[in-house]
Order: sequence, then C-alpha cells, then structure tokens
Amino acid sequence: MKILLVEPNFPIPPKSKNHRDFLPVGLLKLASYHRAKRDEVKLIRGNQQFPDFYPNQVKITSLFTYWSNYVWGSVKFYKENYPKAKVIVGGIYASLMPEHCKQSGCDDVFVGVDERVEKFKPAYDLVDVDYQIVHTSRGCLRKCKFCGTWKIEPKFTSKKSIKDEICSNRVIFYDNNLLANPHITDILEELKNAKHNGRVVYSESQCGIDGRLLTPELAKLLKQARFLNPRIAWDHGYEQRYMIKKQIDMLVNAGYPAKDIYVFMIYNYEPDYYEMLKKLKQCKRWGVQIADCRYRPLKQTFDNYNPRKRQTNKEYYIHPRWTDRQIKLFRKKVRQQNIMIRHGFDHYIHELERQGARRREEKL
Ligand code: SF4
Repeated sequence: MKILLVEPNFPIPPKSKNHRDFLPVGLLKLASYHRAKRDEVKLIRGNQQFPDFYPNQVKITSLFTYWSNYVWGSVKFYKENYPKAKVIVGGIYASLMPEHCKQSGCDDVFVGVDERVEKFKPAYDLVDVDYQIVHTSRGCLRKCKFCGTWKIEPKFTSKKSIKDEICSNRVIFYDNNLLANPHITDILEELKNAKHNGRVVYSESQCGIDGRLLTPELAKLLKQARFLNPRIAWDHGYEQRYMIKKQIDMLVNAGYPAKDIYVFMIYNYEPDYYEMLKKLKQCKRWGVQIADCRYRPLKQTFDNYNPRKRQTNKEYYIHPRWTDRQIKLFRKKVRQQNIMIRHGFDHYIHELERQGARRREEKL
C-alpha cells in the first residue's frame, strides 16, 4: 500500500513549522505504524502532486475547528488529483465535529485516538526536529467547559515509566494534564537521572501544568528534572489570586526565577476586559509572565482575526462581554508586560521589542 500523510496548509508562520506546538505527531506515529506493515509512506505539508507516487490512501490530519477550511481544501485537492485513493481525516477537528468534517467530501472520518497506532514511536526521520514528543497520559481528570480534551480522549490512561522511550536531550510532554498522571513522581525521578548521548535531558510541557495538583515536593522535583518554563493556569476571575499565588510560591521556592514562570490566561471569555486587566496587573506585581490564549468556541469553524484591522463577529469570535478593541488592546498589553518582565524594567520600551525581534530574525 502507498500511504500519503498530509498536514494541511495551516496558517503556521514558516519559522514555526516543526515548532514543538505544531508537530503533526499523530501523522508521525501513523508513519511508523504503516512502515511496520511494510507500506510505503510519504509525509507532506500542504497540497502537492507526485508524478511517481499514486497513494492508495490519503490520511489528512486536522487541528483546531476554526482551521477547518484548510482541511476542506486538502480533501478537495487530493480527491480531485487522486480520485482512486481513499481520503480519511482524523485529528482534533475531525473528532470534535465529525459530521461537519464528513461534508468536506472525504471518504471517512476517524474520531478519537487510534489505539493501534498510539503505541508506535513517531517517525522523527520525516521531520527536522531537535526534540521528542512524549505522552505519559491521555485524557484528563477534569472537564473544563472551554476544552475539548475530555470529548476527544474521554478515558484517562497513564504510563508508569518513560525511561525506555527517551531518545533526545529535549522531551516535550504532550499530556493534557501532566501532573494528573498518578506515576508523575516516578517519571520525574527518571528524567532527573536520564541521559542521552552522555548529556542530561531537559523537558517542557506543551500544555500548562495543573497548579491545583502541585505540591512543594512536586515543584522541587520538576526543577530537579530540569523541567523548563512551567505554566500554570488562571482560568477564572481575580478572586483566584490567592490560590495562584500559592502555586507560584511553590515554584519559586523550588528554585524557578519568577520571570521564568508563566501564568496561562484565557481571554475573550467570561472574565471581562476590566477583570482581566486586574489579573494582568497582579502578574506584574508577582513578576511572572503571561501565556495568553484567545478563546474561540469549540465548534467555531473559522477565524479571520487580524490584529491590525478593526473587525466584527463576522470575521472572528468576539465574546458578548468583550469588544474587538478590548481584545486587541489586551493582547498588546500582555505582550508589552511580558517584555518588561523579561528585561526587568518597570515600564515598556518599544526599542526593546524591536531589538528582540531583530535578534530573533538574526538567529533564523
Ligand atoms: S484541566 Fe486542562 S486539559 Fe483538563 S479539561 Fe481542563 S483545560 Fe482541558
């Protein structure tokens, strides 16, 4: 069999291709699964034709529901160019909105996690990365209403150990709720002692850590396991500040500098702009950075947000308690405050941001 694995042309900036937040890890596991069956596999980003490769199956991944039009574009392209191939869509959007996805014209929609494929190691040789992805658990114990995890992965499962999986000096956890793994202490102990090619291993988590599960012992172990940039979630109102402060204190006491700690905040959501400004100022007082996330409903199928234009609900989702102007202003204030925290200034200097951008460009 010839299998074409497709990541649609999602609007990921070129410099973020292969970024740890966007690696199509499901496709990489599928590649290993098919190779084990002696199938011929090709991984492609976007829509392309191949004169010497006519696939029997085209497997397309999907991400956020509001990027569904990129998935539809790929389905159309591959159906037209390879009419004899079976086109199957899986991933987040396909799992959350299978009926909508089916209307793209694909032959099949795969919902949820494929247990047969899950046990395979991602085929990292198909991408150029200096890290590895690890899931120590699937699902989540909680049911936050803005999150689709518990719908896509309704069963919580966990691993006891990951030491035999380590094949890089940089491990990125793709767990939804890393600390919910009942074996997390053992796993962090493994990481603390892990070496690859004679060098120690660093780790990070793509998702925030669940601060309600944090203890002083776990915070210390995270630090000893060289876990970088911990992000804790502050999902609701200003009244949660005492709880958040305790979580930050645990991390600071474990040895993390405050500026390396991030507080994850969802905006354009229930707490209004003025409440979010209070949270923002509180984070400034604590000296921690903010990882912000603009809320979109789980079944939103488009997002044409443009930070440089005035827009309406027709172009992207605006929560009834927010306005377009407030959304853009909040984003800007977060960015400026993070720059100030990183550089240790008490006011924002535009030149610093320009210098940072220049340095980032030079590095590319
Ligand atoms: S804790 Fe995180 S992963 Fe779990 S349901 Fe809430 S937002 Fe989703």
